[in-house]
Amino acid sequence: MSQKLIFELSSKGRSGCDLPEIDLPLRNIKELVPEKSLRQNDLKLPEVSQVDVVRHFIALSILNHHVDKSFYPLGSCTMKYNPKVNEDLARLSGFSSIHPYQPEETVQGALQLMYELGEYLKEIGGMNGITLQPAAGAQGELTGLLITRAYHTKNGNPRSKIIIPDSAHGTNPASVTITGYQVIQVKSNDKGLVDLEELKKVLDEEVACFMLTAPNTLGLFESQIEEISKAVHNAGAILYMDGANLNALLGIVRPGDIGFDIVHFNLHKTFSTPHGGGGPGAGPLGVKKSLEPFLPVPVIDKNVDEKGEETYSLNYKRPDSIGELQGFYGNFGIMVRAYAFIRACGAEGLKQISENAVINANYIMESLKELYSLPYPGPCMHEFVLSGSRQKGKGVRTADIAKRILDFGLHAPTVYFPLIVSEALMIEPTESESRESCDQFIEVMKKIAQEVEENPELVKGAPYNTPVSRLDEVKATKDLNVRWKG
Ligand SMILES: *Cc1c(COP(=O)(O)O)cnc(C)c1O
Repeated sequence: MSQKLIFELSSKGRSGCDLPEIDLPLRNIKELVPEKSLRQNDLKLPEVSQVDVVRHFIALSILNHHVDKSFYPLGSCTMKYNPKVNEDLARLSGFSSIHPYQPEETVQGALQLMYELGEYLKEIGGMNGITLQPAAGAQGELTGLLITRAYHTKNGNPRSKIIIPDSAHGTNPASVTITGYQVIQVKSNDKGLVDLEELKKVLDEEVACFMLTAPNTLGLFESQIEEISKAVHNAGAILYMDGANLNALLGIVRPGDIGFDIVHFNLHKTFSTPHGGGGPGAGPLGVKKSLEPFLPVPVIDKNVDEKGEETYSLNYKRPDSIGELQGFYGNFGIMVRAYAFIRACGAEGLKQISENAVINANYIMESLKELYSLPYPGPCMHEFVLSGSRQKGKGVRTADIAKRILDFGLHAPTVYFPLIVSEALMIEPTESESRESCDQFIEVMKKIAQEVEENPELVKGAPYNTPVSRLDEVKATKDLNVRWKG
């Protein structure tokens, strides 16, 4: 199943296309380029035909697992299925060939798209103001925390602490630290939710903000959100929602309606941008009215003149703004995809996304909870977290189970996160999977549970059907060598 390097396919004199003979005089080259800078030897390029090249790269693309090939339980957090048409739209030259320094009147369409996308996100989030600038969720968090500080500073005291639950995504404490605030962690209760009493104990005049992921990283909805909101606001602090994964809430719950003052969205998770390759992304941030003056510049204004004509402009004149976050306006191509996705789905379609995502996750959770332990019982939202602790008793770790899943042609779920679940397997099927593909995953997980009982060594040696078997992950990190030397 392995694939040779393209250099190993090379055959002297073979070529992918026929170029005409050079008919320009080359004798002047030595006058133009100093002798020592001239290449002394031929480049070692592979000599291959067109079909060699095409087959080589197609073969490589099939060796990799991808969402176009089969089930991918890493979900929206990493790689949910995104409609291909949005890729075509993002590549339209009217969008892809414009320059950020172009005069505003020549990019009215792009500004309108950004403005309207902002309006949709405000509606989805129940927010009053928006910035599209952050390039990722983590930068959205940073922006939200800078706004938090600007707000408190304006009110006389920037405050010094930010509270985060122990189930939080790692970017939350990192963003807090970068902003110069101190992280205060609160423990989750035995249901995996925020422990309200613990929270109240740490809330005081120095707390600037409470950052909460909703649904939380266990896939659970905070049932006490109203009490949490009241307690946080009584302390004069801001309630921040990490909305990186909005897959469960679209059209069902608006963060602004349940007490959140700030929310960041990950367009590259929920709103149609492939995320698996690690970027680029977009982490727009919505805020409530009292925080709007602090949004980064520029914001996009819609202007209507006497004749009713609409134009769009970039507004930099905002004295309380935290300033510019990016050289320009954010990752525009991602915004085009998100805009197209939201327009194509409509309000009803977005709601269906969340309903399907939630029912798929609950269906798989219910089907597997007898075989794997479920430390925090559902119902879950768009994802749930199993523990491989029972299998560990047989000497099989979650990592082994994940490797064994690959043998059945599926991708493994997220493992060992969140940290509060030992041997965690976090499963998010997303809205696009059919009943049949959920069933296929369930069957594979049942088969592996049975193998663990009957033949644990088999699972511990997996994978067997992949191009390479178990990799030495430490060596791959410490002794990485990917260079070809001819
Ligand atoms: C992915 C994620 C983030 C970070 O988003 P990036 O775009 O990767 O920076 C933050 N919080 C949660 C809950 C996430 O899932």
